[in-house]
Amino acid sequence: MRRVFRTLARLLLLLLLAVSAFAAFWLGLVPQRLSPFSPLALDQPHQWFVDPKLAALRRDPPLCQAILRGPHVEAVAVADLAFENGCGARNSVRLSTAGGARLSADRVSCEVAAALALWLAHDVQPLAVEILGQRVQSVGHLGTYACRNIIGNALWKGVRSQHATANAIDIGGFTLVDGRQIGVLRHWASNGPEARFLRAVHARACRYFRVVLGPEHNVSHKDHFHFDRGPLWTCR
Ligand SMILES: [Zn+2]
Repeated sequence: MRRVFRTLARLLLLLLLAVSAFAAFWLGLVPQRLSPFSPLALDQPHQWFVDPKLAALRRDPPLCQAILRGPHVEAVAVADLAFENGCGARNSVRLSTAGGARLSADRVSCEVAAALALWLAHDVQPLAVEILGQRVQSVGHLGTYACRNIIGNALWKGVRSQHATANAIDIGGFTLVDGRQIGVLRHWASNGPEARFLRAVHARACRYFRVVLGPEHNVSHKDHFHFDRGPLWTCR
């Protein structure tokens, strides 16, 4: 009986260690020098362990500067925004291009900028060529940093959005090289290749972002995709 007890205690300890290790990587608490994973590489499509590699950027501005580089992304570091009432930002950048497309954002977290660059370079651009016959020239968004709560869901009323820490972006649509515009509001529910493209890029975003919400989620998202790198995990 005592042996069974001891085995159970050991199993429980192992489980606790595994959960703690997972949480440390999930929260970006493991510095790159202690990580068993190689640093994130923006030129590598669909690399393994992309989530902990992205999370490692969260608290490491030098690593962020080393990784957010041309030609994959054009970004400059911006001063931190002091935290007050759950709003603020650290280790964020001003973004001008990502994955070969123009994307202007005054402030976005390093982690979200890197995730955008991977998604655009390795998923959005190839899917645009395959489905629409040309590349994306620019990405339209409805906002990144905003000191506000989650909207559109009574369950999360009073809880700060990931936008309040510049850790989120709302993508409204894409402009192709020939000037054609593909919008979430206009094309999501249509039957053409534009809708196929939007649904494919929405699904692929779940490789890089932890929370991906679109028009199927609720009416607040009828005109955009919400992407964030917060602690939750959902893709719909
Ligand atoms: Zn959003």
